[in-house]
Amino acid sequence: MPVPKRKTSKARRDQRSSTKFIRAKCFVKCSNCEHTITSHQICEQCGFYKGRKIMVTKLERAKNRKETKQALQAKRAQQQKDLEQQTSGKEGQ
Ligand SMILES: [Zn+2]
Repeated sequence: MPVPKRKTSKARRDQRSSTKFIRAKCFVKCSNCEHTITSHQICEQCGFYKGRKIMVTKLERAKNRKETKQALQAKRAQQQKDLEQQTSGKEGQ
């Protein structure tokens, strides 16, 4: 088993542990929406980083899902109507 050649002195030990502390986070404002974000991170509000759209946000995804669902429901309702018209037309003959 490897063993340290010398004892770590109190001064060396304390110098090392002096850099181990919690630093305050650096906050900046998003260039696109002025939302407060941590620096060097994508804005969760608008999905922008360095003035470019990087990520689809949770809100946008929810909105897209809702629109797709509504479109699908409308399509199904139309299909149902068409089917009912066809069947009623056949009964009339
Ligand atoms: Zn933003």
